[in-house]
Amino acid sequence: MIRSHWIPCIHHREATERFQSPLGIHLGDPTDSSTYSGFKPFQEATLLGSTVEPVKTPTISGSVGRGGTNFKADVMLIQSLLNRVFSNRKLVVDGIAGSKTNSAIVQFQKRFLRSPDARIDPGGTTIRKLETKIAESVNTSVPVIEDAPLSNTLMKQAWPADTDAAITTFFGERDSNRSYLQLPYPMRLAWDLGTTVTRIQCNTKVVDSLGRILSAILEFYGSLEGVQEARMDRFAGCFAVRKMRGGTSWSRHSWGIAIDIDSEQNGLTTAWPSKATMPEDVIKIFEAEGWKSGARAWGRDAMHFQATH
Ligand SMILES: [Zn+2]
Repeated sequence: MIRSHWIPCIHHREATERFQSPLGIHLGDPTDSSTYSGFKPFQEATLLGSTVEPVKTPTISGSVGRGGTNFKADVMLIQSLLNRVFSNRKLVVDGIAGSKTNSAIVQFQKRFLRSPDARIDPGGTTIRKLETKIAESVNTSVPVIEDAPLSNTLMKQAWPADTDAAITTFFGERDSNRSYLQLPYPMRLAWDLGTTVTRIQCNTKVVDSLGRILSAILEFYGSLEGVQEARMDRFAGCFAVRKMRGGTSWSRHSWGIAIDIDSEQNGLTTAWPSKATMPEDVIKIFEAEGWKSGARAWGRDAMHFQATH
């Protein structure tokens, strides 16, 4: 227990419980460490000193973000909440809803909205998701992955054309040049989420590029938790010597130069973007390394990315 001196009277106790309740924190106790860590962003946001009166409930009085009312206190609250969600992307808590704040709102909304609007309305979906997220983060520790390269290290690679001959010249024969890629975040088998994957086999020549791509995906979503919400930890195969499904030519997986992610919602014949859910931001990250996306190339098989033109 810490900071129990915050609650010298019944008013403070009631105020503390009003704060604890929406965060899902156990009520009634004096201010414990969960309450304190849950309270901290609101304290920062409202520039309160060491006293807790008046306690703000975790809500905003007007809309925040693009086209919003943007009361300074509301913006500061949202900025500090977003800073709790994104462990490696910190906003200055200045109460100004500028482009960085708006893009952080969009980044958060991408986890659950197909068309993020960069705005948080009182009582709306985004503020509820934020509150839920903060409440969870009070009680659970999110694994921290260190030393992940940043996305500004992405480099457009000169991959070969998408033909058997060009691929073989560049990458070697099918079923050769196998190497392991140590994943920057743990993945799970898409068809068996109980199985964790920490390294995958792929062609030696794509190891570095694919590592940078997955690191950039982790950085984009801000945490393993964010990656999981976006389903980008659902690994569905890389090196697999086989003919193309429903065809006679060799799958690019035969050279270990293709990866499939989240096959469940991005099937071979599922139309993208109308039905398949592969985020365009992920496609852009692959494209920044010169990879070809099934979604972009064929409007289907959105799970699939390959290191060719
Ligand atoms: Zn594939």
